[in-house]
Amino acid sequence: MYFESLLDAVLGERQIFHMIECPVCGFEEIYYEHLVTKRLIGRACRQCNFVQKFDPLEIRNRSFNGNSINSSPTQIVSTNKEA
Ligand SMILES: [Zn+2]
Repeated sequence: MYFESLLDAVLGERQIFHMIECPVCGFEEIYYEHLVTKRLIGRACRQCNFVQKFDPLEIRNRSFNGNSINSSPTQIVSTNKEA
């Protein structure tokens, strides 16, 4: 039950969102969502003893990156036309 207490410590209240085959060991990798907000909070594989928490700050940073990526291809295209 060590793994369950690890999940409690890292992810807190949660329910199973979905399961996939773990890319590392082929066992079940479980994605968890928050009990109330239904926000994806993390994933875990008990075979690998692996727990990852999805940090809301990271998700925000990712969308910031997406915005900057959106503007950069236009610049690349115009550079190509000049060359
Ligand atoms: Zn695994």
